[in-house]
Amino acid sequence: MKSLALLHAAELVTLAGPQRPRIGNELSGLGIIRDGGLLIRDGKIDIVGASDEIEEAARDAEVRAGLAVVDLGGRVVLPGFVDAHTHLVFAGNRLEDFERRARDESYEQIAKAGGGIWSTVEKTRAASEADLFAQATKHAEWFVKCGTTTVEAKSGYGLTLDDELKILRVMQRLNQETPLEVVPTFLGAHAVPRDSSAGEYVDLVINEMLPRVAKEKLAEFCDVFCERGYFDVEQSRKILSSAKKLGLKLRGHADQLTNSGGAKLMAELGAATADHLEKTDEQGMASLKSANVQPVLLPGSVYALGSTSYPRAREMIEAGLAVVLATDFNPGSSPTPSMPMVLSLACTQMKMSPAEAITASTINAAYSLNRGGAIGTLEPGKAANVAVFDCEDHRELAYWFGFRQMHSVYVRGEQISF
Ligand SMILES: [Zn+2]
Repeated sequence: MKSLALLHAAELVTLAGPQRPRIGNELSGLGIIRDGGLLIRDGKIDIVGASDEIEEAARDAEVRAGLAVVDLGGRVVLPGFVDAHTHLVFAGNRLEDFERRARDESYEQIAKAGGGIWSTVEKTRAASEADLFAQATKHAEWFVKCGTTTVEAKSGYGLTLDDELKILRVMQRLNQETPLEVVPTFLGAHAVPRDSSAGEYVDLVINEMLPRVAKEKLAEFCDVFCERGYFDVEQSRKILSSAKKLGLKLRGHADQLTNSGGAKLMAELGAATADHLEKTDEQGMASLKSANVQPVLLPGSVYALGSTSYPRAREMIEAGLAVVLATDFNPGSSPTPSMPMVLSLACTQMKMSPAEAITASTINAAYSLNRGGAIGTLEPGKAANVAVFDCEDHRELAYWFGFRQMHSVYVRGEQISF
């Protein structure tokens, strides 16, 4: 049996705690072991403890046979980040939009100049599956280089049956052929295509896309962009109810631009998450709490759009919600794969503590993806997904910003080389 001993972490951030999403003060409990180590066997965490305990266990003859030992050199060690909201598969970029926004042009001006989501849809439709996979592989590598080992990824830049399936197949291949674990979400209802009405498109999503996605088992979750001008509450309810009947779990883009009842709809439908929530009010938060829906907060998109309207994380934590942080990686509004950047924004703009931000981007994110028992903490029996950072105190991850502190990363006990 192959074994790996990782020794001498300045802080081994285990996040050991209750076997459920963390709320309130629990978000601050990182379960840090100083001079900590791990014994990994066959890709899973076997023993977690002080380095001398791990060394002791490694003297066992059976363990010693196939043992490799790595001295982590007094660095900070975390479970790999779990990024629970990304749009990882798309073609091209939105540099023109970016430059126009920098010149302070309005959303309408940018759309008129051929920008916005539609330009990404056109490029993604035109790309072959092989080209799309090549670009997505590059994105996947960026995530791992920032210390992320699992991402949720949404389709939604195809908006036809064939193009949505193409994107979902690319995710399946990423999952099989790259170190990054990809949890697929079908977001056919990302925008209304130019050549159809919202009503017609909702019917297409429900009658043709969802049954195929479910039959081919290409997605675990279904998501909808629930917002005025995209899919209203009634249309979103129709799509998500159909998805639920087909056995998909639910997530939703809710209350990003207006407080339009998205959070309440996610509560009504028993969704796993309600995402964005920049405009959600107290009633919306209360309904999320009553239905145990996890809020997924995406400060990267607020920052990149030059807005200051961050979601009210403190109120959500006080309301007892199991907050999640994610990048919202996408070419238009949040072109970052970096969870450390999101931690920085969470602390500086949303007044979360570094410990709360780490919990929100590991174990709470894992629970939101139905994987709380398998990843998101450093505890015996879990996958040995481990991120090592070149610092001595976990608070440095959110404190220093704008450069990469990642030192090395292990996926199921294997070190990833770049
Ligand atoms: Zn999104």
